[in-house]
Amino acid sequence: MNKNKNKNKNKLDRAYIAKYRASGELVCKKCNKTYYEHPLCYDYVDNYGDPYLNILCNGDLVKL
Ligand SMILES: [Zn+2]
Repeated sequence: MNKNKNKNKNKLDRAYIAKYRASGELVCKKCNKTYYEHPLCYDYVDNYGDPYLNILCNGDLVKL
């Protein structure tokens, strides 16, 4: 029983999208461009309708 519960939890963790603050001058390990050069995510906007998260190549969303 407990083992099955843990399996379900792992599935949820895989769907989790990492969101965190980072410096825009950091360099992406996958494409070697700065975080600033990555596209904005339009699924998340602030109260004014402006996107504020950049999408990195690994799928992480960062607030620069
Ligand atoms: Zn990248």
